Order: sequence, then C-alpha cells, then structure tokens
Amino acid sequence: MNILLTGGAGYIGSHTAALLLREGHDVTLLDNLSNSDIGVLDRLHAISNREISFVQADIRETDVLERVLVGNHIDAVIHFAGLKAVGESVRLPIAYYDNNVNGTISLLRAMQATDVRTLVFSSSATVYGDPKYLPLDEKHPTGPTNPYGQTKLHIEEILRDVAASEPLWKIAILRYFNPVGAHDSGLLGENPNGIPNNLMPFVARVAAGKLPRVEIFGDDYDTADGTGVRDYIHVADLAAGHLAALGYLSRTPPGYEVFNLGTGQGYSVKEMIAAFAAASGRPIPSVVVGRRAGDIASCYADPTRARTLLGWEARLTLADMCASAWRFQSRLAES
Ligand code: NAD
Ligand code: UDP
Repeated sequence: MNILLTGGAGYIGSHTAALLLREGHDVTLLDNLSNSDIGVLDRLHAISNREISFVQADIRETDVLERVLVGNHIDAVIHFAGLKAVGESVRLPIAYYDNNVNGTISLLRAMQATDVRTLVFSSSATVYGDPKYLPLDEKHPTGPTNPYGQTKLHIEEILRDVAASEPLWKIAILRYFNPVGAHDSGLLGENPNGIPNNLMPFVARVAAGKLPRVEIFGDDYDTADGTGVRDYIHVADLAAGHLAALGYLSRTPPGYEVFNLGTGQGYSVKEMIAAFAAASGRPIPSVVVGRRAGDIASCYADPTRARTLLGWEARLTLADMCASAWRFQSRLAES
C-alpha cells in the first residue's frame, strides 16, 4: 500500500514508518518539523535501505495535501500530526485547537476531494479523563480534563460524523496509553526539546547523568506503593497496532471503530525507575515531591477489543522498553 503519515517524522510516526517499510509498504511522510528534525529521514533510510518520500508542509495546507494524496497514489492515511503537550495546551488552547482540530479538518477536506477515505487516527487515553473504573475499556465515558485531550475528543467526534455522513469512509481511532521505548537499532526514539515532561525520557536523562534526579510527583496515591500507575506500551508494539489497524480496515466494510492500544498492565513510578536502573546499570536518584496538578492515581487499558478485532496485542516487556530507551539515550550521548 501507499501510506501517507502526517507527523511521520515524529516519535511514533517514525517508528511506524520503519515498520511499514519493513513490511514492504511505500510511505510518504508529511511533517512541518515543528517537533521533529529532518535527520530522521537519514536514520529511516539507514534502517530500511529504502528511499523515503518526505514533504515538509503543514496539514493546514489543504492544497499541498491534495497534491500529495494524488501525486503519491495514497491508499490510506495515518494521522499522527498534532501538538501533544498537556501543560502547553492549557496555556495555548487556540494554538492547540487550530493545529489539531483545524489541521484534521483540512486533512479530511483533502482526502474527500481526492477520494482517499481510509484513515487511522492517533488519539489518546487522555480522552477518558478521570477513570470511573479500571481497566478502561472503549465504552468508558469520555471527559478530558485539558485542552489537548479536548482536541482529541473533538477530532474523534468529527471523524464519527464524517464516517456516518458518507458510507465510504474507513476510520480507525487508536487511543494510545503511555508510549515509551525506542527502535531496536537505537537510531529512533524520543528526544524531547528542553526538560522532558514525561516520566520515561526524564528517567533516561537522569540515568545518563544529564539531570540530577527524578522528581516523583506524589507517593500518597491509592496505589500499591503510593506512586502513580500507568500503562506503558513499547513504541514498537504501538507501531504494530497501526499495521494491524490498516489490515483490519482493508478487510472490513466501511465504518468507524475505536480501539485502545495498551498492554493492560500498570506500573508505578517507582517500578519504572527500578526497571530503568536495572536496564541501564546506572543509579537513578529520586526524590518525592508534591503531586502534579491534574494527575490521576491509576490508568490502564482493557485491550480486549484490539486483541479480538485487530488480532493485535502488546508483546514487549517493561525490561524491553527500558533497554531500548537506554540504547537510544546512550547513542545520543555518543553522537
Ligand atoms: P511528536 O511530536 O513526536 O510527533 C508529531 C509530529 O507531528 C511532529 O513531527 C510534528 O513536527 C508534527 N506536526 C505537528 N503539527 C503539525 C502540523 N500542523 N502539520 C504537520 N506536521 C505537524 O509526537 P508523537 O509522540 O509521535 O505523537 C504522535 C501522535 O500521537 C500525536 O497526535 C499525539 O497527540 C498522539 N499521542 C501521543 C502520545 C505520547 O505519549 N507520545 C500519547 C497519546 C497520543
Ligand atoms: N511522573 C513523575 N515525575 C516526572 C514525570 C512524571 O513522577 O518527572 C509521574 C506522573 O505523575 C505519572 C507518571 O509519572 O504518575 C507518568 O507521567 P507521564 O507524564 O509520563 O504520563 P501521563 O501523566 O500523561 O500518563
């Protein structure tokens, strides 16, 4: 298949591109490089030994999208492009709605105009908001607690209405839990600018000696060790979930489906730090500080639906996640 990956130069997009290339698909990456760098193309080439078609553009440029969809004979789109920092979305809601929601509308216009109606969308477990029960299945009520999550929910609703309006669309919504880890090669991974907001990249930098200690945001939660529990999923498993979703869309009638992509297993902050220390062989100093505003105690998926309908399940362990992230972090230090 010819697959367009919006946001394809980013963390999850680049891993998915590597897998699609390995599976013999042709990919086109479209990215404005607002949160990624062009160097990822060389690394994808090194991994796949394939030429990568890349378009530097913004998804709000509908005419560019139309040209790419037609010119590259695109069969399906995986829509990763988006802004994703929760804290920033609270400060800059207009930018978030414009980029994420208007960007998606622009993409849908271009797809409709060019008759490409197969779409996989990167959503997030954040659409569930505060869990009313665990594990979270897809029927759990939605109620995001920040503008970033709102953009994801709005986009899901738009996609549902679009699918209902024209019975030609094949749309899969993938609600990711906590993607972590890196490519086996050590060439692709998560390397946020500035001080990381998320736990795993923060821990990786402490292990590398680039930050002094991990701040554990609260140890008085109602969890086994008092620290927050999340469903961390290896980015390679997540990439495989996209392949499975494309396979599902190609063999089923048009429609709109929502899937959780998680492992079903939660780990605490303390367990994550211990696993990373074991994988890296480095000490990881930590200190308990106050809770982070807006955090919840526990969040993990019921991944049954993806297993049943997509034939997909996460296979890699917490040790795999930490070892691959450490390999990537170590390579960064060398380069
Ligand atoms: P990322 O920032 O690494 O990748 C997103 C890419 O989209 C970046 O390369 C960025 O330059 C590009 N982009 C952003 N706005 C664009 C625009 N208007 N036009 C063109 N390109 C644009 O993030 P990621 O972690 O790879 O996330 C991919 C998707 O998955 C995002 O939609 C994100 O919201 C979603 N998601 C991520 C996580 C996570 O924890 N990483 C969890 C749930 C959902
Ligand atoms: N966390 C932490 N210290 C950090 C970053 C995160 O203790 O420097 C905790 C956070 O409170 C949560 C877990 O680690 O319990 C995962 O946080 P992350 O930001 O990675 O993901 P999210 O909150 O989006 O699930």
